[in-house]
Amino acid sequence: MTDTLDIKITKTQHSRLAETDFSNLPFGKVFSDHMFVADYADGEWKNFEILPYGPILMSPAISALHYGQSFFEGIKAYKHADGTVSIFRPDKNAIRFNKSAERLCMPTLPEEVFVQSIAALVDIDREWIPGKANHALYIRPFMFATDPFLGVTPSATYKFIVIIGPTGPYFSKALRVKIETHFTRAAEGGMGFAKAAGNYGSAMLPARKAAQEGFDQLIWTDAKEHKYVEEMGAANAMFLLDGKLITAEAKDTILDGVTRDTVIALAKDWGIPVEERKVSVAELIEGAKNGKLTDAFGAGTAATIAPVGSISVDGEEYPLSDPATRAFSQKVLSTLDAIKYGRAEDTHGWNYIV
Ligand SMILES: *Cc1c(COP(=O)(O)O)cnc(C)c1O
Repeated sequence: MTDTLDIKITKTQHSRLAETDFSNLPFGKVFSDHMFVADYADGEWKNFEILPYGPILMSPAISALHYGQSFFEGIKAYKHADGTVSIFRPDKNAIRFNKSAERLCMPTLPEEVFVQSIAALVDIDREWIPGKANHALYIRPFMFATDPFLGVTPSATYKFIVIIGPTGPYFSKALRVKIETHFTRAAEGGMGFAKAAGNYGSAMLPARKAAQEGFDQLIWTDAKEHKYVEEMGAANAMFLLDGKLITAEAKDTILDGVTRDTVIALAKDWGIPVEERKVSVAELIEGAKNGKLTDAFGAGTAATIAPVGSISVDGEEYPLSDPATRAFSQKVLSTLDAIKYGRAEDTHGWNYIV
């Protein structure tokens, strides 16, 4: 599978696999034995390498640190009962990776190179993929600017790195969500559609304030009027209103989520009408009051399908139905799991087998 990509491989002499506690896997804290690294210089990608996971030496002047030429992706790999390993839709992430790169004036990476680098790394560390339900291998590809130069100009050199680690469930309960009507995540003409590092730094203060008020997550609204819902932390906000699946259109300000796209495809398979359009806070509150809002959840690779338990706006909290009784998101969850873990036929060709 990796024969077209020439990768120098140096295996670790000290695997940490045996000492890793797979019953305690906080998100993003446990990494496998190896990482993938490639360099961009002289207008091309080179030095493809898999080596032991560990610190990298960098100049303190690299422009990624000063001006934020940095972005990432998030993907998961799953272990099936028969030992087969699959990565979920990495081709979609490859496309989005390049959209982020272009927005940030960074070099793109051929889609096959992106997918094959990841597959090669997952293959070497396949023992790290948990076999348990709701567990997976989280894959974090990222790129950043490495010119040691303080000029505000696109770097001429970059690194593309992939790190991976076993992970368990992300959220354990239905989320108390606040509609954010003061802070803004993304504006038209900005970079909300890119998985740019800077988007997450700017979200931390609003997220902390929401947490201090007792909320688990916030739902961003449009920058102009704060009237239309956009998305949640690192998940797209999706709703079942009056029997229709509705979610914000994946334009400038919205991250075009792979999970979002997958949920939409399933809904269409099942004959459920899908509307990608502006979703106003007012219609959600109306739906919460009259019972027509029968489902609400965040959709993302890390969080998978995270049920929203209640929506709060301007200090008023609107509780939603018990997540266990929600037909749509329960069916999405079980169908997705069955496909990802190889228990159901992958009719859409979403599993990339390693
Ligand atoms: C990553 C992310 C998502 C979800 O995208 P997936 O491809 O489904 O993981 C949604 N919104 C934001 C802001 C994100 O960063």
